[in-house]
Formats: sequence, C-alpha cells, structure tokens
Amino acid sequence: MTDDRLQADRLESLAKEIEAFVRGPGEAYAEEIERTGAVPPGLWDDLRQRGYLRLAAPEAYGGQGVPFSRYLELLELISMSHASLRMIVHVCNGIWRAIDQFATPGQREAFVKPQISGDIRVAFTLTEPNAGSGADIRSSVTREGDTYYLSGDKHLITFGVHCDYWLLFARLAGTTGRDGTVALMVERRAPGVTVEDMPETMGVRGTDHARLHFERTPVPVANRLGEEGQGLEVALGGFLTPSRISVAMTCVGLARRAQELAVDHARVRETFGKPLVARQAIAFSLAENATDIEAARQLTLHAARRWEAGDPESSTLSSMSKLNAVDMLTRVTDKALQVHGGIGYWQPNPIERVYRDARAQRFEEGTNEIQKAVISRQFLAPGR
Ligand SMILES: Cc1cc2nc3c(=O)[nH]c(=O)nc-3n(C[C@H](O)[C@H](O)[C@H](O)COP(=O)(O)OP(=O)(O)OC[C@H]3O[C@@H](n4cnc5c(N)ncnc54)[C@H](O)[C@@H]3O)c2cc1C
Repeated sequence: MTDDRLQADRLESLAKEIEAFVRGPGEAYAEEIERTGAVPPGLWDDLRQRGYLRLAAPEAYGGQGVPFSRYLELLELISMSHASLRMIVHVCNGIWRAIDQFATPGQREAFVKPQISGDIRVAFTLTEPNAGSGADIRSSVTREGDTYYLSGDKHLITFGVHCDYWLLFARLAGTTGRDGTVALMVERRAPGVTVEDMPETMGVRGTDHARLHFERTPVPVANRLGEEGQGLEVALGGFLTPSRISVAMTCVGLARRAQELAVDHARVRETFGKPLVARQAIAFSLAENATDIEAARQLTLHAARRWEAGDPESSTLSSMSKLNAVDMLTRVTDKALQVHGGIGYWQPNPIERVYRDARAQRFEEGTNEIQKAVISRQFLAPGR
C-alpha cells in the first residue's frame, strides 16, 4: 500500500472514531456541562488521551501531523459537539503556531512541545477592556535588567482562569501603535496578578473566561517571543490565517448539527395531518440550509488549500471564509430553530444550545466588520 493510501485510511478511521465520540461521550459531556455550568476536568484529560489536542501539530513536535486541510475535516466533526468541547480542540490545535513562529530552540522545548502534548495550557491574551478590535494595546511593561514589569488589564480571555501561561500582548511603556509591542509567556502563578472568572456567557457555557489585572507583575525577558516591536506580529501574523480558516470550519460543523436537528424534527413533527418535511416551504428552507453549508465548506477548504500552498492571497481568503461562514451559521441556526417551533426555544432542547453557542463565533478571530476591513483593504489597495 502506498504512503498516501495509508494516510487516507488512517484519516478515514480517525474521522469515524471522532464522529462516534461526538455522538456518544461528547453528547454526555454536553449534557453535563449544560447541567453544571462547568467543563469537567476529565474532558481535557479524555481529549488529550485520545490525541485530539495534537491532531494538527507536526510529528517532529509530538503532534499527529494531520495536514491542515484534512485536520479541518476532523474539526468540522468536533464542532458538531458542545462549543466548549470544540473550543478546547480548536485552541489547543492552533495556539502552538503563534508561540512557535519566533520561538528559540529553548522556548520551543519549554512552551511549544509541552503545549502540544497537553502538559501546559496556554491562553491567548490580547483583548483589553479598552482595546478589542483596534488591538491598540494599553497593557505595558518596563524593563529592569532581565525582567519586565507588567501592568494593565485584559478581559474575555478564554481558559484565562485555568491555564499555566498567558500568551500575553503588551507594549513597552511610552510606545504607540505597533511599535514597541511585545509577546510574553506570563506564568499563571506570577505575583501581582488578580484573576477573576467571567462565567455568565450566553453560549460556550462551562468554558472559563478571565478578567485579569496586572500590577508590576515580573516576567523574565527570556519569556519574550520574538523581538521588542514584534508583539503584534506574533498575535496577528502567520498564526491568524489558519486560525480564521479553522473558526470558519467550526461554523460549518455547528451549522451541520443544526441542520441535522432540524431535519430530524421535521420528519417526525406533524401539523395539519402531515409531517413538516412534506411541506414544500419547510423542505425548501432545509434545502437552502444544505446549500449554504456546502458553499461555506468549499470556500473554507479552498482558503485552507491556498494557505497550505503558501499563497499570500490566503490571508484575504481566510477573512472571506470566516465572514461567509459566520453569516451562514446565523442563517442556518435561525431557520433550524424556526423549524422546531416554540419548543425549540426551551431548554434542554439541543437546538436551543446550538443557537446560543453559534453567536460566539462572530467574535472569534475578528468580528465581521474587521473581516470586511481586511477584505476591502486588499482590493482597494493602490495599484490593484
Ligand atoms: C466567547 C468569546 C471568547 C473570546 N476569547 C478571547 C480570547 O481568548 N482572547 C482574547 O484576547 N480575546 C477573546 N475574546 C474577545 C474578542 O476577540 C473580542 O470580543 C473581539 O475582538 C471584538 O473586540 P471588542 O469586544 O472589544 O469589541 P469592540 O472593538 O468594542 O467593537 C464593538 C463593535 O464595533 C465593531 N467595530 C469596531 N471597530 C470598528 C470599525 N473600525 N469599523 C466598523 N466596526 C467596528 C466591532 O466589529 C464590534 O461589532 C473573546 C470573545 C468572545 C465573545
């Protein structure tokens, strides 16, 4: 058997295994999370032991080495599950890229490989109460010898409560814009930090999100990734394109789940003596959903393949795929909830959770407005 055939067989059996997990234990985890409002610690261990947290990382780093566009097919299946479960898998399979871009060999051993193996958890820590879309970071550091002293605030940070490191973006005190930004691996146990949980989210229930306040928190200069001035490059550089494409695929997966629930419901629910699926209006609505989902999947996979091929246009394509996929998800979940009738608005109907979970994706890796700004910049650039 050729290597390609072996690889294809391996991925096919991995996909089957993941689908069985999502529909079996994954659903049990979803019910537990919704009931308790917390992600059971066993879920992280389970996902880690199954190897799902290191699917996309290279084998040389201890990952499973699944090519990016094939990984997306697996992420699509994972995203049919509870948003907290897909958040763990999505973040762990991607954040190593941000750390790795500028890592020294020592930093690769200390941070990248342990993150991939699941020995350490890293939270991406960019957003501030007064700086979100603009990325106009206000948290600042002053350097004294081999130590930076960090002061400032962050909020909405996924896994920011229960992590080992914050991959945190700040600036040298007194600088503005991109100049003077730094990317730092800040230890969760460092002194001078106040950590507050922000548990009352609409969807993605159970995932911890942190509000952080730093007051002269010491961070070794050795924990800086890249040079001074490269902080925003770590945050928004080579990492962002695959991450946006990944979020687009999580929309496809969740939309697929919404459509499945709508079809199942429409088959069994009868009104005026006939099942809903027998009504053309309902069947057409489901047909629109199916078309919408497939179109988003294909644009997402196209963006992924262009990125794999090293095409510089893949950055714009990543924004297009994300913008298109979140809008698709909004339309699909809305129609899927409508097909359920009033009972779909009540807990614990699965469509109710899917509808709530879907809303978060519009903020991840940049809002629609930011994607539109990126896309329009590309075709409005002088000389095009
Ligand atoms: C569930 C969830 C998890 C998150 N996890 C993380 C995390 O792990 N790490 C992290 O750093 N952040 C995280 N965030 C924060 C997220 O990245 C921000 O919410 C997002 O970047 C938007 O920033 P903001 O909330 O400050 O909105 P703002 O920047 O205040 O924007 C408000 C609205 O105005 C629009 N807008 C802003 N500027 C413009 C403009 N120039 N033109 C037109 N419209 C504009 C925006 O699109 C938005 O709709 C998370 C958010 C959510 C909801």
